[in-house]
This record gives sequence, structure tokens and C-alpha cells, in this order.
Amino acid sequence: MEDNFKIYIDELQNDNLKIEKSLSPDFLASSDPELKFVSPVQIVGYACISEDFMILRLQVNSSISMPCSICNEFTSFQVKVDFCHSEELKNIKNVFDFQEILRESIMIEIPLFTECDGNCPERANIKKYLKTNSPTKGGNLLYFPFSEINNLKKE
Ligand SMILES: [Zn+2]
Repeated sequence: MEDNFKIYIDELQNDNLKIEKSLSPDFLASSDPELKFVSPVQIVGYACISEDFMILRLQVNSSISMPCSICNEFTSFQVKVDFCHSEELKNIKNVFDFQEILRESIMIEIPLFTECDGNCPERANIKKYLKTNSPTKGGNLLYFPFSEINNLKKE
């Protein structure tokens, strides 16, 4: 457990706790080699107590790099997450660790596919091909021959 992700409930008793950190992206460590975090993860926000709950609100900013789904070159883009979590105080023993819930909410914001600059230069070449060989022909993907899938890969 890293201290960066800990909130001490005692510190919230009288005042909101401001949070502003630049975190190493290591905590997001992904088993996917095609997903790279290329900058620190910036978090800005606060934690406070509201009645029986601890409220944590954070704006998260980071950059990630992953292969373009058209040309397969790595491309990087910004990921922004509005993170909000509330936890009943009776579930917290003095310290609340938000590493795992923060990690999860960042990971679900990451798109499955990306494209260089939102419009890959290679797209025009592939489009031509897709038009003549629609994989949904006949409405059944199972009939899509494997030889055609191989042709789709960049030569
Ligand atoms: Zn591309």
C-alpha cells in the first residue's frame, strides 16, 4: 500500500482535505503490453465527510499510448476521468485506501480501440478493401474466411 492513496479519516474531521498529486503510473500496471502509460497520473480534488459518509472527488488526467487499430503504430492520447466515490464511515477503519478503486475507474475509461489523431492516414487504404469484402456478408461472421482476415493485416 502506498501512502499516496491513503486518506486518514482524522484529517477530515474539521475540514475538507485537498488532494493534488502527480502519481507515477506504475500503480496502473497493466498486463497488456499494448497499453503504456506515458506520463504521470495527475489527480486533483478533495475528500470530505458528509454525514455518515466519506466523499472523495478527483479529476484524473493522464496520457496513454496504444497501437492504432488501423495501422498498428503506437499513438498517445489523453485520458480524463471524473472520479467520485463515497464510502460509509463505519466501513473505514481510520484509513481509507483508494488505490484499487481509482485504478479500476481509470482502466474502464480506456477505449478498446484507438486511431492515430482520430483519423489514421492508413484508413483510406483499408476502407477500399473493406468495401469489397464485408465481413458481415450474409449476416454471419462465421462465414468470414480466415484468408481474408490475413489479407487485412498491413503488408
Ligand atoms: Zn494509424
